[in-house]
Amino acid sequence: MSDETPICSAKGCRADAVWVLAWNNPKIHTPERRKTWLACDEHREHLSQFLGVRGFLKDVVKFEDWQASEEG
Ligand SMILES: [Zn+2]
Repeated sequence: MSDETPICSAKGCRADAVWVLAWNNPKIHTPERRKTWLACDEHREHLSQFLGVRGFLKDVVKFEDWQASEEG
């Protein structure tokens, strides 16, 4: 566990992450595998679209909800 505030995965962005984008590339990942990107409010749409057009995007969840589900 880290106490560091997670930051947005968008290139060059240092904003706090608010969203978790869960994705899977069927060519390289097993179906149940989830990769995650973090996004601030500003970049959620951009990153979602990037994954969405490739058919990779599985879920977009509030960071706090994601953490709660990971811990629970
Ligand atoms: Zn951002």
